[in-house]
Amino acid sequence: MKKILSLALFLAFLPVFVFAQEKPWPNTTIIGALNGYNPRLQDDFYASVNRDWLLTAKIPQGYPRIDSFTERSIQIKEELRSLMTDKSLKGLDAQNVRNLYNLFLDWEGRKNSGVAELKEIIQNVKNLKNLQELSDWFCGDECIYKGAYPCGLVVETDIKDKSKKALTVYPTGLTLQDSAEYKRLTENGKNQKEFSDAVSLHVLTKIGFSGQEADKIIAQKYQFESALASTMMTTDDYNSPKYFEMILNERTLGQLQELSPAFPLVQSIKALGMDKTKRIYLAEPAWLKKMNEIYSEENIGLVKAWLIDKIARDAVYYLDRESYDFFNKARAKRYGIADAPNDTQNAVDFVADALVVPLSKLYAANCVDKNAKKRVTKIVKQTIAEYKKLLAGQDWLCAETKKKAIQKVSATKIRVAYPSRWDDWSALKISSAKEGESFFSAVQKVRVFRTKQELSNVGKKYGSGMWIENVFQVNAFNEFTSNSIKIIAGIIGGAFYHPDMTDEELYGGLGAVIGHEISHSFDATGSQFDKEGEMNNWWTEEDLEAFKARSKKISDRFNGMTTFGSTRQNGEAVQGEAAADIGGVKVMLALAKKKPEFNYKLFFESYARVWKAAISREFAGVMLNDPHPYANLRTNVTLQQFDEFIETYGIKPGDKMYLAPQDRISIW
Ligand SMILES: [Zn+2]
Repeated sequence: MKKILSLALFLAFLPVFVFAQEKPWPNTTIIGALNGYNPRLQDDFYASVNRDWLLTAKIPQGYPRIDSFTERSIQIKEELRSLMTDKSLKGLDAQNVRNLYNLFLDWEGRKNSGVAELKEIIQNVKNLKNLQELSDWFCGDECIYKGAYPCGLVVETDIKDKSKKALTVYPTGLTLQDSAEYKRLTENGKNQKEFSDAVSLHVLTKIGFSGQEADKIIAQKYQFESALASTMMTTDDYNSPKYFEMILNERTLGQLQELSPAFPLVQSIKALGMDKTKRIYLAEPAWLKKMNEIYSEENIGLVKAWLIDKIARDAVYYLDRESYDFFNKARAKRYGIADAPNDTQNAVDFVADALVVPLSKLYAANCVDKNAKKRVTKIVKQTIAEYKKLLAGQDWLCAETKKKAIQKVSATKIRVAYPSRWDDWSALKISSAKEGESFFSAVQKVRVFRTKQELSNVGKKYGSGMWIENVFQVNAFNEFTSNSIKIIAGIIGGAFYHPDMTDEELYGGLGAVIGHEISHSFDATGSQFDKEGEMNNWWTEEDLEAFKARSKKISDRFNGMTTFGSTRQNGEAVQGEAAADIGGVKVMLALAKKKPEFNYKLFFESYARVWKAAISREFAGVMLNDPHPYANLRTNVTLQQFDEFIETYGIKPGDKMYLAPQDRISIW
C-alpha cells in the first residue's frame, strides 16, 4: 500500500518510456557516465562540482546507490548495530532488540524453523473447500494475524475532518506494483516479474509443491491480478494531484454490502472492529466491483492461488539459510546491487523494521545530540518567517488567497528529531533461543502484536499517539493532514548537518531540506489542504488557475528532458518535488540576504554536494518510479532559476546552465 498522507524528501514510487527530446546534461548520476566528460561549472554545475567524488564513487556492499542519504544511513546503521549488541543497555526494549537480532543470525536454530509452520498455514488455505469457507477464513484470526488479505483496510485521520478517523478501503497490492504493467509490460515490470516469480517458485517447491504445481499457482495468481488490474489506478494516478479527489469516495457499510455481496468486505471490516470508524472511503469503486465479480465458486482456485503465493513469498526471508541466501541474491539482481549485503547489515535492517518503536526510543535516548534539536527548531522557525514574507510578495495572488496561504504557513506544526510520546510496546516480549524462541516464532509474535496494536488504535482519538515511528530514517516530511513538517533525527547529521557547519553550508544542506518540506504545503497536492490539515479549497478560482499554470510550466520543463537512453522524466510525476526543491532554495536565498558577508559559492556548492549521487544502471530504471527527479537535475534545474546563481558564476547565454529570465519556473 501506498503511504499517501505525506510527501517525503527522498525515494518513493512510477514508469514511463517515451521519446527523446531535450538532453541538456547527461545523467551523470549513473556510475561511469563521467568518463570522457569534463564540463565547466557554467555548463553542468552538478557534474563539475561533484566531479572528483563521482569519478571515485563506489557503491557500497548491499546498496544500489551511494549518495548523501546512503552515507548517513550507513553511519546510523553502525549506531543501531551497537544498540543491538550492547549488553549494558537495560530494559525490555533493549532486551527485545538484542534477542531478535541474535535470533536472526542463529542459523543453527533457523534450520528447523519456519517451514513446518508455513506448510500448516498453506495447508489450511488449500483445505478451504468452497467460497463460504474461504470467506470465513478471511474473517478469522489466521488470516488477520498470519495470512494475506486481498485488499488494504487502513484507519487513519479523516482528511475531511481531522478530529476524527476514517477507514479507507484500498485495492489489492499487485506483484508488478503498477496496474499499467498488466496492459503493457515495461523493462522494469519484466525485471520485477522475474524477481517475484523466482521467489514464488523457490518457496512453493520448498514447502512441497512440485515445479509444475508451483507454475500453475503463479499463472493463476497473475490471472486473478490481471482481471483486477484492468480496473485499478496506475502509478501515474497515484502521483497525480487529483489523487485524493479520486479516492475520497464516501460509502456507508450498507452501500459496501450492496456493492460487494459476494466478496466478504463488510464482514471483514466488522471482524476487525473497523466498523466503529465514523466515515468510510472506498478508494477505487471499479476495483471492488471487479473483485466481487471474480469472487465466485468458479474462480475460487484463482483467489486461493493468489493467497498461497502471497503467504509463501512473504515468508521467504524468515526461513532457513538456503531461502535467505536465495532471496538476497535475487533481490541484489533486481536492484542492481553488485554485492549482496552481509548478514549483519541484514539483521540490523530487519530488527530496525520489525521493532521500529523500541529501537527508535533507544536511538533517541542514546544517539541524538540534544543541542541539534534546539538549533534545527530555530532554523525551521526562521524559514517559516521568511516564507511568510515570500508569500506576501506574490502579486499574482489576490489579497484573500494570500492571507490564507500566510495563515497556513504560520500554523505549520514544527516536529524535530523525535516525539516526546511513544506507543506502548510493553506487551511484546521476545525471548532468546536459549529460552526456546525460534526466529520464525519471534517474527509471528511481532506481527500479531503490531496487528493488534493497529486495531486497538481504531477507536482512539486522533493525535493521541506519537508523530513518527521511525526516528533513525534519513528523511523529512510534510504531513498535509496535520499541517506539520517533520525533520527526523536521522537527517540531522552527515552531509546535512554538523554542529560546526557555517551558515552557508547549513543553508545548502539541512536548510534547503527544511525549505523543501515547507514548500510542499503549496505544491499541487499540498495546496488542497488548509491550515488545520483538512482537505478544503481555500483558493479563489482565478488564483487556483494561475497556480496550476505555474505548476504546469514546471512539469513541461521536465517532460522535455531525456535522462538516459530513450527514457525521460515524467514531468507530471516529478513536478511537485521539483517545485519543492526550487521553493526550498528560494527561501534559503532570502535568509542569506540577511547575512552581510554571505558566501554564495559555498552555499551553491554545498547544495550540489548534498545531492551528489552515484547509482547503478539497473537502479536508474527503478528511479523512474520515483516522484523525485534525478539528482543531477535536482541540482542543475533548481539552481539555474536564480539570479544569485547566474551572477555568482558569470553564466551567460549560450552556457548550458543559462536560463533566460522569461523561461524560469517557480511557484513562488
Ligand atoms: Zn519532497
